[in-house]
Parts: sequence; structure tokens; C-alpha cells
Amino acid sequence: MILKDKTAIVTGAASGIGKNIAETYAKAGAKVAIADLNKDAAEATAREIDPSGAAAMAVEMNVIDEDQVNAGVATVVEAWGSADILVSNAGIQIVHPLHEFPYKEWQRLLSIHLDGAFLTTKACLPHMYNSGRGGSIIYMGSVHSKEASVLKAPYVTAKHGLIGLAKVVAKEGAAHGVRANVICPGFVRTPLVDKQIPEQAAELGITEDEVIKNVMLKETVDGEFTTTQDVADAALFFAGFGSNALTGQSLVVSHGWFME
Ligand code: NAD
Repeated sequence: MILKDKTAIVTGAASGIGKNIAETYAKAGAKVAIADLNKDAAEATAREIDPSGAAAMAVEMNVIDEDQVNAGVATVVEAWGSADILVSNAGIQIVHPLHEFPYKEWQRLLSIHLDGAFLTTKACLPHMYNSGRGGSIIYMGSVHSKEASVLKAPYVTAKHGLIGLAKVVAKEGAAHGVRANVICPGFVRTPLVDKQIPEQAAELGITEDEVIKNVMLKETVDGEFTTTQDVADAALFFAGFGSNALTGQSLVVSHGWFME
């Protein structure tokens, strides 16, 4: 129960990685807010975690809508008294070759990943600073925070950018006991990845099986997908770490696809 008496806001927590992080935090004793664009799925996830509603709440939040972000964070603090942990996880993927990438799609992807991280961080920091309890902010990066792949220009750009943001938060937050770190997963079988498999097969002119074996998992040490639980375990470690010794860092969880 290393997160007993802590409150956590996890964006994009109605699905995939974020959902498993919320479940893992709840098991570790935290109260968790499921902040997601998809209100129905967020409510269903909150009910699954705690049907009584005492330890889990759904918050409808589009992470690029400043008013909705501020209102969502305020709701959590009003209900539970603090916002100790923020996991900025909401994200999307869009694949095209760079020379054909529609500008609107480039902007949309950068906005959800980077503006979303900025707005949720900005909304949580004053509460973390004023509470005297400090806080832990975790950004969902990717191996694409360190490496590039074809067809993913805005995603690679945004995921690299999150490392810069985490380093600034680490420096500004240190005096208040606020830490910031990035988790960089390899491929995880979630709806986000399932959608990419046929898209990449079409773009690259290969089969879906070849996309998995020869593109997604080719560089891993064992040909295995990373799991949502692998990523949630790393998120628990960062959230539960109790000092500024571990801040401004990024941790790759990818079956050795990328080695520092
Ligand atoms: P997912 O599609 O399963 O879940 C994403 C969630 O984010 C959904 O519930 C969706 O409703 C929500 N969301 C999307 N846009 C939003 C917005 N504007 N505001 C609020 N919520 C929004 O995806 P996932 O695979 O669990 O991905 C979660 C994060 O992990 C993303 O940042 C992704 O880039 C990152 N990531 C995923 C993988 C992978 O292989 N799946 C690998 C590395 C990093």
C-alpha cells in the first residue's frame, strides 16, 4: 500500500496503459481519478475499480481544453483534498510518410501529447506546491522519445519533447518536492497499437504479421510485446519514490528494443 493516502489523476485512463496504471495505483492504496475524453468508458473504469465511488472517480476531460482540464483537477482536489500524482498519459497515433502528412493531423497529434501534458501539469502544480506534500508527475513517453521510426514524425517529435518538459518540471518543482519523470514503453497491445497494424501494413506494402515481427518487435531481445502491467509497474515505482533523487529521468520499458 505504498500509495495509501495519495490521490492520483491519470489522463487517458479509460483504456489501455492508463487504465492499468489506475488499477495498479488503486491496489496500492491511492484514490484515482480516471480523466478521459471518453466519459462513458471513464465511468465504467471508475466503477470497475471501486463500485462505491470512494476510491475512484471519472472525470470527463479533453486534455487540450484548458477550462475542462482546470475544472477536472479542481473537482478532484475539492473531493479528495489534493492532487499528489499526475500521470499525463492520454495520447493518439497517426501514421503517414512525412512528405504527405496533413498539417492538421500533425497539429492535432502534437497538441494532444504536448499541450495536454502542459495544461494538466500547469493545473496540478499549484496544488502540489501549496499542499506542502509535493508530488510526482509522470509523462507517458515511448521508445519514440529516444528513437525514430518511419511514418511517425509528429509522434516521435512529441515524445522527444516530453523529456524536455519533464526536465524543466524537475528543476522548477524541486524546491516544492515535485518530481517529474518519463516512462518510455516499447510496443504494447492496446487499441492504439491494434489500429496501427493494418495501417502500417497498407503503408509499407507488407502483411500484418510482418508488421508485428519485422517492424514492431524486430529490435527487441525476445520478440515480445511489453504489457500494460509492465508499464504500470514502472509508473508505480515512480509514483512511490519518496525523494528528489529520482527526478528528470526517463525509463525505457521495451524488452530491450532501445538500450541506453
Ligand atoms: P489507448 O488508445 O488504449 O488509450 C488512450 C486513451 O486516451 C483513450 O481512453 C482515449 O479516450 C484517451 N484520449 C485520447 N485523446 C484524449 C484527449 N484529447 N483527452 C483525454 N483523453 C484522451 O492507448 P494506449 O496505447 O494505452 O496509449 C496511452 C499512452 O501510452 C499514449 O500516450 C501513447 O502514446 C503511449 N504509448 C503507447 C504505446 C503502445 O504501444 N500502446 C507505446 C508507447 C507509448
